[in-house]
Amino acid sequence: MTDVDGCLVDRVTRSHAAADAALDRLKQARVPVVLCSSKTRAELERLRQELGLSDPFISENGGALFAPVGAFPFALTGAVGRDAHEVVEFGKPHREVLEVLKRVAAREGVPVSTFSDMSVQDVADDCGLSLAAARLAKLREYDEPYRVAASDPSARSRLCRALRSAGLRCANGGRYDHVTSGANKGLAAVFLRRCYERQWGHVTTVGLGDAANDVELLRAVDVPVIVRGPDAEVTAAMAAQIRGAVVTAAVGPAGWSEAVVAILDGHQGH
Ligand SMILES: [Mg+2]
Repeated sequence: MTDVDGCLVDRVTRSHAAADAALDRLKQARVPVVLCSSKTRAELERLRQELGLSDPFISENGGALFAPVGAFPFALTGAVGRDAHEVVEFGKPHREVLEVLKRVAAREGVPVSTFSDMSVQDVADDCGLSLAAARLAKLREYDEPYRVAASDPSARSRLCRALRSAGLRCANGGRYDHVTSGANKGLAAVFLRRCYERQWGHVTTVGLGDAANDVELLRAVDVPVIVRGPDAEVTAAMAAQIRGAVVTAAVGPAGWSEAVVAILDGHQGH
């Protein structure tokens, strides 16, 4: 189960070239590769197509789990059918999350700029995306990315505390802070793990992440891997929160590849 930006895909160039060989080995070994990202369903469907993946995936920081119909020889508990997927929703609808974010930010006097307020062009410019990709990134169903537009650095943590008191969850995903309700990557990962256990019996799960919104995911897996990022403080803070985590030597997709190859080689050696 892997995060995308800063892990499988370079955060700046958006290239996954450095991870391609390791990804091919996983496909050959028929190891499911589950994308688990803050990205939308639309963005992840496009990326899965590009990478040649057909496994279940988790969108918007655990907002929902999408399993292609027939991925498991049983119906997923609580799933609804949507297009070619069984969908298990963990997050409350995006509209409700955005409403609470705006209300709490106004009450706290913290100015925020949210993804929903930004035009497609703004999102493209700010995230280094094409207009087509920015359009997909704006199709939020559960999670809202936002930035605090205040010069006072304490405003950001104050808003985050107030959102938590209001029952929401916020975590930094690298580029933006993200707010969700009722969801995190770990809950969806645990649910999916149980599906694989029901199908195969014992399974070993590996999680790869690089930012604060990956902590629950890495806590939910057997083998947690922290993919090193450009900010040493973020990496160190994660390592302090996740017992037994491996930290990669290389940054981004090269680090992702390094960890996957080491795990596959170690497994073969058994
Ligand atoms: Mg990331």
